[in-house]
Amino acid sequence: MNRRQFTKTLASSAIAIALPAVSVQGKPQVAITMDDFNLFGATPDVAEQRNRAILQALRQHGNLQAAGFVTGGNVNSELGRSLVKAWSDAGHLIANHTYSHWYYHKRTVEEFSADALRVETQIKDLPGFTKLFRFPMLKEGDTVERRDGMRAWLKQHGYKMGYVTIDASDWYIDQRLRARRTENPQADVTGFRKFYLDHLWQRATYYDDLSRKALGRSVKHTLLIHHNVLNELFLDDVLTMFERRGWQLIGAKAAFADPVFDKLPNILPAGESLVWALAKESGKFDQRLRYPAEDSEYEKAAMDKLGL
Ligand SMILES: [Zn+2]
Repeated sequence: MNRRQFTKTLASSAIAIALPAVSVQGKPQVAITMDDFNLFGATPDVAEQRNRAILQALRQHGNLQAAGFVTGGNVNSELGRSLVKAWSDAGHLIANHTYSHWYYHKRTVEEFSADALRVETQIKDLPGFTKLFRFPMLKEGDTVERRDGMRAWLKQHGYKMGYVTIDASDWYIDQRLRARRTENPQADVTGFRKFYLDHLWQRATYYDDLSRKALGRSVKHTLLIHHNVLNELFLDDVLTMFERRGWQLIGAKAAFADPVFDKLPNILPAGESLVWALAKESGKFDQRLRYPAEDSEYEKAAMDKLGL
């Protein structure tokens, strides 16, 4: 980003703050939710450094409480357990994201629920453990049987849905950033930083706008990002961006207390962002709701063009 672009960015954020929808309803609010805890084969030193950097970014922004949605298979080691424990010790929520990170639409309710139960046994003794459940890839069932089968199972086991309201593709930007660094450990990654911040801002404003249009209000948002190298490097910048542009960072527990998280949208296939699903259910936005709501296919051409 050069100076002119930077000034332009500041000017446009000042305009955004002045929009009537924001001043009438107050600032949009967003909590950070971080999925998977994929260590990507990192050595203990590298993995611990990444975890520390992420936790430090959260601490530096008002000791912000996040929710970690743990994929059990990624942390079934002494190292993995210590990273999740550090999250719990720092006051973050520890939630269930299944053991195997399966694509639900290819599994039975029985297989999938057994897999969810498996991670619970790994994390249930941590003080931060919270009965929130998030489906891998946000795929919640392509048939009534699958969708309602897991909904019944979760209710029976005392879980609330750990919905995402702001979906994004940080995982894809991270994948390309790691590939670049494998080619050249000294590679300049500032282009990835700019692309990532722009992408998150674009998706956050899109879902907040959809929330106002479909639900008549700005819900307490839950942003989906991942425990990865991209966030080791840039989570602090992400949090600063939201604050500077007039959003309020809120704790994950406070966000999930919004009654919108009790909704069970009646759509098939079920899933995606909760705001997206409720907009879909309303029937008023069909032509404008792409499916899948987020994926690498929407970001690839722009990243190719930028040489990222
Ligand atoms: Zn995941």
